[in-house]
Amino acid sequence: DEGNEPSTFFQAQSAKTSNQGTLGPDGKPCRTCTDFRSWMKKAGSSASSNQGRPLSISEEQAAYIERDLKGCPQDKDELGRSTWKFLHTMSVNYPEKPSIQEQKDMVNFLGLFGKFYPCAPCAEDFRKDLEQNPPKVESDMALSRWLCQAHNRVNIKVGKPEFDCSKVLERWRDGWKD
Ligand code: FAD
Repeated sequence: DEGNEPSTFFQAQSAKTSNQGTLGPDGKPCRTCTDFRSWMKKAGSSASSNQGRPLSISEEQAAYIERDLKGCPQDKDELGRSTWKFLHTMSVNYPEKPSIQEQKDMVNFLGLFGKFYPCAPCAEDFRKDLEQNPPKVESDMALSRWLCQAHNRVNIKVGKPEFDCSKVLERWRDGWKD
């Protein structure tokens, strides 16, 4: 069954693996380096989080999936969603004790991100926000919390509900507690 085979991507990259999947730089199983099906298989669970029941999706979600399947260019919201996914996942995987150089690199990265983010009004506001609320880069927790608050400032601006930042690790690293 091809669908249940572990990803071959990292075999080509000669990444370290264990019986719990691909390992990260800390030697622990790395969720963001392992595809979902392999991860669930290693965890001894079904790949379906809905216990065999059909998933229900909204019309809006269906439209986005259709656009994605057709290979349409990103609109503001798709781009935003994908970007937040990347940024939050990066923040919760940032080092617990980053070196001074890593801290500088992250500040630079966020500055360059604000320069090149391809939604000009979003990027302009993000640059202003960076000036008013400089990034906290001294640890993974500091960065994750700062980013969560930055995302909440955008949520408030566009009229979306605020996210509870005490749950940022559950949402973006550990998965929801059952
Ligand atoms: P998103 O806001 O994209 O969030 C994705 C997921 O992140 C959510 O489903 C939720 O699970 C989680 N989440 C939500 N809030 C938080 C949080 N605070 N911390 C951690 N996780 C959270 N759109 C505009 O219309 N105007 C703008 O000025 C604008 N600026 C943007 C600036 C940046 C840097 C980015 C990346 C995006 C910006 N966007 C802007 C896009 C906007 O933020 C949303 O991405 C888009 O509207 C889609 O929203 P969504 O409801 O799908 O969820």
